[in-house]
Amino acid sequence: MITEQKDIKSLSHQELEDAVLALGEKKFRAAQLFEWMHKKKAASFSEMSNLSEAFRKKLAENFSFTVLREVRRLSSAEDGTIKFLFALPDDKVIESVFMKYHHGNSVCISSQAGCRMGCRFCASTLEGLERNLLPSEMLEQIYRIEELTGEHVSNVVVMGTGEPMDNYDNLVRFIRLITDEKGHNMSVRNITVSTCGIVENMRKLAMEELPVTLALSLHAPNDEKRKRLMPVAYKYELKEVLAACDFYFEKTGRRISYEYSLVAGENDTESEADELGRLLHGKNCHVNLIPVNPIKERDYKQSTFKNVLNFRKRLEKYNINVTIRRELGADIGAACGQLRKSHLDEMGKNG
Ligand code: SAH
Repeated sequence: MITEQKDIKSLSHQELEDAVLALGEKKFRAAQLFEWMHKKKAASFSEMSNLSEAFRKKLAENFSFTVLREVRRLSSAEDGTIKFLFALPDDKVIESVFMKYHHGNSVCISSQAGCRMGCRFCASTLEGLERNLLPSEMLEQIYRIEELTGEHVSNVVVMGTGEPMDNYDNLVRFIRLITDEKGHNMSVRNITVSTCGIVENMRKLAMEELPVTLALSLHAPNDEKRKRLMPVAYKYELKEVLAACDFYFEKTGRRISYEYSLVAGENDTESEADELGRLLHGKNCHVNLIPVNPIKERDYKQSTFKNVLNFRKRLEKYNINVTIRRELGADIGAACGQLRKSHLDEMGKNG
């Protein structure tokens, strides 16, 4: 589903060949074009110096060329994390985060402008969904960050604004493009897709032969509690969501990563840790504990560090692999959707 017609950077190599032939050019021009877009990360047709001017003109007449424009940048003085606010071609804004780890550089990308999932603690969903991102707009977040920082990006987490499984076709197209060996050639194993649990599409992804890591935003050990935090829980029971995770593991061999944001007094008690332990016991999985990042629009508070440690200890009793997510870019407010939200607020205020 590419919704914008003739968005050239969202085309597969094969589709590009067909398009080039249709314009009356030789097939090898498609390889050159693909390389300019996905390897050399060109920002316009005019940079493509080994293509004739006439051909570049024809391309510009027939296709749109998606490039993101940097609007703002916040750099952490503590750990090298950089948060980017980018403008899309239609001037909507999205955010992406560059993070340095010892295993390589990682970018957290957005999959939608806004989100319609309504998770109670999340800033990205407060204004609802504006629109899906095109595959090119997901790719561009990585390409522009590499160009702007001069750093190579080896890992991608689709954990920024938006629900990737709510923009499924464009997500899959993005994964195929970023892993194309003629393009960026990212390893599919270095990609993580995080979902609030859209069961049909989790099952569909399991069958794509694209074994990315799947992260499931769990945040509660039972349906009742989950409904309080995540409206999507009204649509899919925990039982169905976990069955889809098991199916994903079965088909791909990739261990599921369960995300659990700890909210003081909501989901962080010892009995909830035990309930979660019983729920996940025996599964080949990993639990990522994230002290919730409070947003000003809601009254949720972070669990105390003592509670977080205690929660981990209880879970480990069930033989579950647990990590506490290291907070990167704490000094720049790298929480989901906060930069974009404050930008929208400012624009609103200024008329
Ligand atoms: N829609 C997808 C991906 C984007 S959110 C999903 O739900 O997984 C990425 C992760 O950040 C999710 O686990 C989400 O629940 C979590 N998250 C969102 N806002 C948060 C906040 N304020 N504090 C902690 N985690 C948050």
